[in-house]
Amino acid sequence: MIKLDFHPAGRHFLQIPGPSPVPDRILRAISYPTIDHRGPEFGALGLKVLAGIKKVFKTQHPVIIYPSSGTGAWEAALSNTLSSGDIVLMYETGHFATLWKKMAEKLGLKPEFLGSPGSDGWRHAVSAQRIEERLRADSGHAIKAVCVVHNETSTGVTSNIAAVRRAIDAANHPALLLVDTISGLASIDYRHDEWGVDVTVSGSQKGLMLPPGIGLNAVSPKAIEASKTAGLRRSFWDWTEIIEMNKTGYWPYTPNTNLLYGLSEALDMILDEGLENVFARHQRLAHACREAVRAWGLEIQCADTDAYSPVLTGVMTPENMDADVVRKTVYERFNMSLGTGLGKVKGRMFRIGHLGDCNDLTLMAALAGCEMGLRLSGVRLAASGVTAAMDYLVSPAGSSALKAVA
Ligand SMILES: *Cc1c(COP(=O)(O)O)cnc(C)c1O
Repeated sequence: MIKLDFHPAGRHFLQIPGPSPVPDRILRAISYPTIDHRGPEFGALGLKVLAGIKKVFKTQHPVIIYPSSGTGAWEAALSNTLSSGDIVLMYETGHFATLWKKMAEKLGLKPEFLGSPGSDGWRHAVSAQRIEERLRADSGHAIKAVCVVHNETSTGVTSNIAAVRRAIDAANHPALLLVDTISGLASIDYRHDEWGVDVTVSGSQKGLMLPPGIGLNAVSPKAIEASKTAGLRRSFWDWTEIIEMNKTGYWPYTPNTNLLYGLSEALDMILDEGLENVFARHQRLAHACREAVRAWGLEIQCADTDAYSPVLTGVMTPENMDADVVRKTVYERFNMSLGTGLGKVKGRMFRIGHLGDCNDLTLMAALAGCEMGLRLSGVRLAASGVTAAMDYLVSPAGSSALKAVA
């Protein structure tokens, strides 16, 4: 039996790419007393978080906050905009893209899966060119939506959403653009309005540094228009009533009050640091992490050098080494959790999360745990990744990358 009160000395290193560690400030905010969700105080909280979250999505349009996991927000995006039998173009970047596609099938949509990964597995970003070619061929406009994962958390590959927008425009195609940035929001630059995204799906437990339990949909006017005729059945997920009641800061049902306290605190932290500084911090730590992996002589799962994720790094283990053995060693010896390989890449790679409430020393400790765990597991390393990462962090390049704006 697992003993939930087991508490080894020091803190647990939660270095999975979500849930990410929740800062004490946010935990304290979550512990405020639960209030009347129809009372006057609540409306002020509701209006604050609804306005703040728009800044993070870079949108002027409504953002819907659900008491749900990210998976629920996926369903909300599809069911509010599409009808049974609609063809949707999805893109196989990895495990999460595959799960979203399976959901589309279950909901009665007809997903077409582009980008079959070929012999080298899930290692690439979305090809906007392939999307453009497919849309050009669809002269009858049978395709109703293009669905892509911005930051593929199973592999550590980030796709260029602006390029996908340009591809849709170049093909002069009316399809909606639906984007999952569940693990990208508040960690990687994201521009819902500028990139013409119709529905952006996100969640609380990654870059927003909250516990799991909030699902998000940022919606465009075109998406709201589509929802008026979208035929898929929905009730709980329906945007209409929520958007209407949100105007005064309330919800049609009981929202997760305490997580909204946490969201309010998280927004203060992120917006005080400055979104661009938050993004630069993630880029810099990710760069240091890749320096470590290269020094070890191991391969980075992402094979496109312009698509490295600022959120996590996928590390491939040598052919004869089960990545889950390394993870188990690291967990048992150093009390650190690393992300497992999901789906097709199970056992072939592990994932180091460097998102949310992460700084130089958090990353260095995580890398030290990885390096010791790899050595204990019998992986022969070319050199010390810890030293390589430190060298980068204190180098002029690593120092000047500290802030986006001086
Ligand atoms: C975490 C994640 C999900 C799933 O979110 P849940 O909160 O676990 O339902 C979906 N897509 C991506 C890209 C994710 O990182």
